[in-house]
Amino acid sequence: MEEIFSPNHPGNLQDYEKAYREFNWASLEVYFDWSKGGIYNIAAEAVDRHGRGSRKDQVALHSVQANGDVKSLTFGELYRRSNQFADGLVKLGVRRSDRVFVYLDRTTELFISLIGIVKIGAMAGPLFSALGPEAVRDRILDGEPSAIVTSPYLYQRIAPILKDLPIVPLFIILGDKEGLEGTVSYSEVLASGSPDFEAVDMGPNDPYIIHYTSGSTGKPKGVLLPHKAMLQQLLGMKYVVDIRDGDVYWCTADPGWVTGTSVGIFGPWYLGNTIISYEGRFDARTWYSLIERFKVNVWFTAPTALRMLMKAGDDLVKEFDLSSLRHICSAGEPLNPHVVRWGVEVLDRRIHDNWWQTETGAPCISNYSCMDIRPGSMGKPVPGVVAAVVDENGMELPPGKEGFLALRPGWPSMMIGIWKNITKYREYFYVPGWYATGDQAYMDEDGYVWFLGRADDVIKTSGERLGPFEVESALIEHSAVAESAVVGKPDELRGEIVKAFIVLRPGHEPSDHLRKDITNFVRVRLAYYAYPREIEFVAELPKTRSGKIMRRVLKAKEGGHDVGDLSMLED
Ligand code: ATP
Ligand code: MG
Repeated sequence: MEEIFSPNHPGNLQDYEKAYREFNWASLEVYFDWSKGGIYNIAAEAVDRHGRGSRKDQVALHSVQANGDVKSLTFGELYRRSNQFADGLVKLGVRRSDRVFVYLDRTTELFISLIGIVKIGAMAGPLFSALGPEAVRDRILDGEPSAIVTSPYLYQRIAPILKDLPIVPLFIILGDKEGLEGTVSYSEVLASGSPDFEAVDMGPNDPYIIHYTSGSTGKPKGVLLPHKAMLQQLLGMKYVVDIRDGDVYWCTADPGWVTGTSVGIFGPWYLGNTIISYEGRFDARTWYSLIERFKVNVWFTAPTALRMLMKAGDDLVKEFDLSSLRHICSAGEPLNPHVVRWGVEVLDRRIHDNWWQTETGAPCISNYSCMDIRPGSMGKPVPGVVAAVVDENGMELPPGKEGFLALRPGWPSMMIGIWKNITKYREYFYVPGWYATGDQAYMDEDGYVWFLGRADDVIKTSGERLGPFEVESALIEHSAVAESAVVGKPDELRGEIVKAFIVLRPGHEPSDHLRKDITNFVRVRLAYYAYPREIEFVAELPKTRSGKIMRRVLKAKEGGHDVGDLSMLED
């Protein structure tokens, strides 16, 4: 019998099929002030109307510092300070359409800066503060920002690369700028601006952000998202994230990634929800304690984090009161069925996997609170989005048949371009009539979408095509396996053989015996050609800064070819 997890709480979406059939984007316009004569700007929708209105004294953000201290901002405070920062930027000469990067730890000023930049009609460029000097240099050379907001410590980190830049942007320093030549101080910029600044009226297709992709498949691309993305981000909050009025919400993604802004900042603030942000690094105990302490109702995280929580053990979960949690989402990487099962068994909650990309700007395929979850499936397209599995001519493939995952262009949060790279942008549309996602998938008889892998990661072995995800998912069901990455290794006889890299759970040691045991365990669960003929035990897997497994690094090592851009590889 097929494994299914049925809905366990009534959600915002009652009947998916009906909503999908009857949906039109215009129905969401009423949620926004611009539909009632206000200006068109996503920062104004996220902050200003609450800051001036009935929510002005409600907390918009609890920012938890690495040491546990909390700084909170009400919508009113956020409104005034982001106005001041916006006006301060204008007084510095920053203009509409300029890029302004924010390279800061997750402090309140990160949020104030992002909102301020978007208010003046400039493009915010959030950079994850864990990025190293080379990654920052690449982005400065590409994005040519007129200003960068950063801290003295991060400024010092990237100082070595500044002398090689053809044009050095203006640095706005949060904190003591003593000795940092040619920079201006954040507090002075703020002090120079008016708290009554009016956000600039934008067009629906004007960009508000430049988000660099994660770099899983190559050099990160600078994706431009338009102000009209707000429609789909709001839809995502209602139907995918399933947020309700009064909910406390924690999205663990850094604002340097699209999840961290689209459903991490703007989405929840359109609806006036209080969000949590945590400055520190991942730690299982701290994460559970934050849910307990802030009575988080809705939680959005990623498969790698969930696997790390699993690795920390089930006893730890019992030490915390997680009863406030109602809805959990995961995105960014495939969610193994084993993790979904763990959610139901140990957290007593379903984890709702959803699929999207930096380029899509908001969730496009998802599991919904009203729908059965088939573990391992990403769910069904969100209302308003047409998704299909197609061949290279754009012909839709029948159920069960593997092919390219594609979307019908024109969803509101679709990127409007890749910064300074029209060729790259056009490549997404090489399949006639479709936007090609670069992922491989199939659809089942009932329209559920199943992820196989990135097109680049698909393994060709013994004349068969195989996605790494199903092999990895089988491997982590073994009690000794915490994480795994599977790649194709060149082989004269079979084209490629399946090779698995495995990180063991605490208390297990690598041995030939364990290798055999794991092989036998997965062999009976997979097609005859799919079990790994080679297993290598490793202490860690190569991951991007956003925590995604970088299979191309392992694959290049096995194939003896160049690994390509490594600026996004974690330390
Ligand atoms: P780059 O484009 O620079 O190589 P990236 O594709 O990892 O990096 P993102 O835009 O952050 O950059 O990630 C989008 C990709 O992440 C998707 O194309 C898909 O491969 C993967 N992904 C996202 N969500 C899911 C999910 N729910 N299930 C499976 N894969 C997912
Ligand atoms: Mg990508």
